[in-house]
Formats: sequence, structure tokens, C-alpha cells
Amino acid sequence: MAETIFSKIIRKEIPADIVFESDTILAFRDINPQAPVHILIIPKQSIAYTTEIDGKKDAILLGALFDAANQIAKEQGIDKNGFRLVINCGDNGGQEVPHLHMHLLGGRKMKWPPG
Ligand code: 5GP
Repeated sequence: MAETIFSKIIRKEIPADIVFESDTILAFRDINPQAPVHILIIPKQSIAYTTEIDGKKDAILLGALFDAANQIAKEQGIDKNGFRLVINCGDNGGQEVPHLHMHLLGGRKMKWPPG
């Protein structure tokens, strides 16, 4: 996988406001938050795009991503009123960093459709 800014955050070479860490997953606050709570949840392993995911091979990792999202939502106090999970993929999806990441957004009412 290509080196990204998230690789450096995983290796703790650049600072991030980390809210969750396990052997396989890291979660930290987005540097440019779009909601009162905006956290990026990323696998530590080399996956750039959702198109690289193998549902069977990566099932445990994907489950862990959702478990982390639910745990963090609870810790951040946004589980009761609801939140949004977003994964952008590729150019048209608006993905800027080619390292798979889930956005956890909450603390305000969201609109639909996205821009
Ligand atoms: P994408 O557009 O790829 O789905 O989302 C990338 C996200 O990473 C953006 O929301 C952007 O604000 C965030 N981001 C980019 N660089 C950094 C950084 O160095 N630190 C943190 N915490 N977030 C970053």
C-alpha cells in the first residue's frame, strides 16, 4: 500500500487525538471536523480502498471496525440520538486519503442526500 498520512499516524510519527486503539484498529479525531464528534476509524493493515476488501477474508476486521464504531459512539455520548458512519471510496466517492477509513459523525442532525 502507498504510504499515507495515516501510516504516519499509525506509527505515531505525527500526532493525532487518538480515542481508541487495538491490535488491528486505530481511531482518532478528524483534523477538520464536520460535526461536533468526527472520528476516523481505520484498520492498521494495508487496505487502500473498499474495493480491496474480501468479505470472507476480512470479516473479522470488518466486524472489529463496527464494534469500535459502536463503542466509541457510546463513549462519546452520541449512541442514543444516532450518528452517521461514512466510507468514501475513490475519486467520485470523495476519498482523499487512500487508506480505508470509516468516518463516525455525530452530535448534530445530519442532512440527506450528501453533497
Ligand atoms: P476522506 O476524504 O479520504 O474520506 O477523508 C479523509 C479525512 O482525513 C478528512 O476528513 C480529513 O480532514 C482527514 N485528515 C487528513 N489529514 C489528516 C491528519 O493529518 N490528521 C487527522 N486527524 N485527520 C486528517
